[in-house]
Amino acid sequence: MSNRTFTMVKPDATRKGYTGAILDQIIKGGFSIKALKWIQLTKEQAGQFYDVHRERPFYPELVEFMSSGPIVAAILEKENAVADFRTLIGATNPANAAEGTIRKNFAASIGENAVHGSDSDENAAIEGDFFFSKLERF
Ligand code: ATP
Ligand code: MG
Repeated sequence: MSNRTFTMVKPDATRKGYTGAILDQIIKGGFSIKALKWIQLTKEQAGQFYDVHRERPFYPELVEFMSSGPIVAAILEKENAVADFRTLIGATNPANAAEGTIRKNFAASIGENAVHGSDSDENAAIEGDFFFSKLERF
């Protein structure tokens, strides 16, 4: 089992000024930051990142949204990082997210849901590599 996961603070949350509060909740949740970047994705890059959802009806909306403003990308470390981070962020739809989770606290809708969290160790590694070179991670 890997002890790393990958996250993004999504454009809705950076726009609303929630970046600091979300990073604070992540750190207080026991995760340490191993790489961090403030960046705006092109539509092409957002499309590539979410390529697994290409056939889904919400894909065009997702690509448009994820390239609509800056995001904050990070590699996080903690024991059992992938599963524990999914618990910390809560369900995809904030209406179904548990009390106190990041999506419950900061997300507006299933589309604009404040944060991304990797769904497996394999994808955490792929997603971290998408954003960060070896020189940018610690
Ligand atoms: P993420 O991968 O961003 O952490 P997730 O793993 O909880 O989210 P996925 O099923 O991987 O959920 O969906 C990826 C993203 O696509 C969601 O976070 C959300 O932004 C968007 N999305 C998912 N389902 C819908 C939907 N029904 N309508 C609009 N957008 C959606
Ligand atoms: Mg996902």
